[in-house]
Parts: sequence; C-alpha cells; structure tokens
Amino acid sequence: MSYVDEVIETIIEQNPGEAEFHQALREVMESIRVVVEENEEEYKKNALLERLANPERQIKFRVPWVDDNGQVQVNTGYRVQFNSAIGPYKGGLRFHPSVNIGIIKFLGFEQIFKNSLTGLPIGGGKGGSNFDPKGKSDREVMAFCQSFMTELYRHIGADTDVPAGDIGVGAREVGFLFGQYKRLSNLYEGVLTGKGLTFGGSLTRTEATGYGLLYFTNAMLKANDIDIAGKTIAVSGAGNVAIYAIEKAQQLGGKPVTCSDSTGWIYDSEGIDVELLKEIKEVKRERLTAYAKARESAEYHEGKGVWTVKCDIALPCATQNELQLEDAKSLVENGVLAVAEGANMPTTIEATEYLQENDVLFAPGKASNAGGVATSALEMAQNSQRLSWTFEEVDAKLQNIMENIFANAAAAAEEYGLDKNYVAGANIAGFKKVVEAMNAQGIV
Ligand code: GLU
Repeated sequence: MSYVDEVIETIIEQNPGEAEFHQALREVMESIRVVVEENEEEYKKNALLERLANPERQIKFRVPWVDDNGQVQVNTGYRVQFNSAIGPYKGGLRFHPSVNIGIIKFLGFEQIFKNSLTGLPIGGGKGGSNFDPKGKSDREVMAFCQSFMTELYRHIGADTDVPAGDIGVGAREVGFLFGQYKRLSNLYEGVLTGKGLTFGGSLTRTEATGYGLLYFTNAMLKANDIDIAGKTIAVSGAGNVAIYAIEKAQQLGGKPVTCSDSTGWIYDSEGIDVELLKEIKEVKRERLTAYAKARESAEYHEGKGVWTVKCDIALPCATQNELQLEDAKSLVENGVLAVAEGANMPTTIEATEYLQENDVLFAPGKASNAGGVATSALEMAQNSQRLSWTFEEVDAKLQNIMENIFANAAAAAEEYGLDKNYVAGANIAGFKKVVEAMNAQGIV
C-alpha cells in the first residue's frame, strides 16, 4: 500500500465518525499524491502526513449560560489549533446546531492550505459551538459569547491564535467576544478579526470573502477566454459571503438571479436586489419570504432548488455538501460553464468529479473563498502597526492576492500535468509551503 493510502486509512480509523473531516482529508491526500511520490521515503520517515493530519492541539469545553427565562443552557465549545508551521493559528468560529468535532476538524484542516495559499503568515485553526444564534435575543447572544470567551481566552492571543467569524458569527458576536477577551486578559490587541471599525476592524473585511470569490472567478474565466459580463449567475446562501458575491458580480456586469436560506430560495428574473437583501438579512434578520413579498419579479420556493435554475456560473455560498451529484448533473444539463465555491467544501467529491469530467471550470473553496481570511491577515497587519488603511488600499491588496492564488493554483496544476484541475493545483500549492516550513522546523 502506498504511504498516502496508509495514512488515509490510519487517520480515518483513529478518528471514527468524523465524516466531513474524512472527506476533506481524502480530497487533499488524493491531490498531493503526485508530490508525495517524489519524496515518499523521506516523508514517511518523518511521518509528515501523519503530523499534518493530526491537529497540534484540540480543545473542547463546556459553555453554560442563562437564557431570557432564567433557564441555564449548556453548549459545547471547540477550538482546533491544527497547524502553526507558517504563522499563528487563524480561522473562524462557527455557531450552528450542526457543529461537532468532525466539522471543526474539516474546517481547520482546509484552513491550513487556504491560509498558505494567501501567501500571508497565518497557520490553520477553527472553532465554534453547537449554539444556535437564530431566534436568540441580543442579551442571550452576549451571555453565550461571554461564557464562550471565558474559557477560550486562555488559549488564544494576537501572536498565538486569532479567531474570526464563520456561519452564525458576525460583527455582533465578534464584538461581544472581543469585549470579554479584553476584560479577562487586560490586553487591547488584535486577537480577533472581523472587528467593528471603531475598535480595530479593517475596511473591506465585511465584503472580502464575496468580493474575493468574484476576483478569483473572474481571473479563472479570463484565463479561459470567458467574459463574465452578461452571464447569468446562480448563487446559494444569503449570508455574508452570498451578499457580497452578488454585489461584486453585479459590479462586474454579471446577473445573479438566485439566493437561498435554510428554509427556501429566491428566483428573481430581474436580478437580485442586493440592497433589499442586505436590509432583510443584515438589519432585520428576516427570512427570504420577506424578499419575495417586497419584490414583484421574485418567486419564493420552499426547500432546495437553486441548482435547477439555468445559469452560466454557479456560486455555492451556503454550507458544506450543499451541491450534490444530482445538482451537478442538472447544472451540466443546463450548460453551466463554471462553478466557484464561496462556502467551505460546498460540493461533494462525486459532484466535483462530475463537473470536472464534463469540462466545467471548477474553483475549490480553499482557493476561491480565501479572500475573507486574507483580509483578516491584513487586519492583523494593521493592528500590529496601529494604523488603518483605506477601503481602496485593502480592496486592491485583496484583488492582487486573489489573482495570485489563481495563478499559483493554475501553475501547480500545470507543473504536474493536471491541466485545468484547480482543485489539485490549489492543494499542491498550499501543501508545498506548509511542508517546507514543517521540515525546516524539525520534529515538532
Ligand atoms: N471563516 C472564514 C473562512 O472560512 C474566515 C476566517 C478568518 O477570517 O479567520 O476562511
């Protein structure tokens, strides 16, 4: 059995029941096989892949808090500090009822390669809780965040581990978390990113993941002689990534016609009204039914269905494994040209393979959604300098980073004769830097 296969088998056996982590592990390991084969003996002797696949540290803790009825609630908190070879652990916190250790480990593992691809000095980590902020009062969210940070603060720091947002963690939550960190540690430092603009946040961070996705997508389309202007775009999700992907797609001349949330989806024949969407999701925190009510050209449908819409470009921006084989088949049947992931691992392995086999350009999330964390690293840089850059400065840096990520992924794919396989290209490019840093730092 090859070293790669051995490691896949052992890691899966040692970490039972962590389906999403197994999926992310398999995808990366399959891609880097060609690199490992060049140095198999040395990698095996140094147990490089085992070290890569085992988090440096994982923390699990109790989060008790009191709800508005005076009832004590108990959630579970996690922080997985996966790899610090190229910088302090960096990655978001996810608050969602589905969160478990397998999900946090898949996200943390992906984050290692994503952060490496940005070219910035950030290691990989992720955390979160099975707490559901949906339907909770601001006071309940604050109580939860303060309790969560009361344990987490001892494990993090501006040069140790810098969390941020992810699903269920936005500006409100980051604000509460930062306030409690400062109170407990007596340190005013850039320990979290995605902060408000009055306390160390960076301009463009809110828009960064969605904008970055479009900068990457545009670079990929251009390299394949496709113009984004006039293209119909199907987008899933209605959170921070989807909203700013829609906004930038429109600025580039594309026409996004869909979005979705956990209960249904919108088809808007006139193109999504992004200001209305922001008002409903960012200000009023309402369902998408409110969008359909406010706009004549919009249809609301219950359940799943975004990928049945005829489109040229598909941007899955909701959550893991939302785009499955049957969805990939319907996209191909409708003539899709490109799929670019805004969420983390939104496409199953079977669906990805089907799209690639049918010559659909495919951008993997760890490359195409790296704009969020890249801008977080720019926020860290500004905090260290005690300066803040203008929107235009940060946006220009973001665009440059995304174009470089595309160029590096495409170059790595070409170097190994993998043509337009940007999944493999991104994994290889991200992996090479981390492995070189790990090797140079000895057996740690
Ligand atoms: N949660 C985002 C991601 O998946 C951002 C992480 C960060 O800014 O640290 O990359």
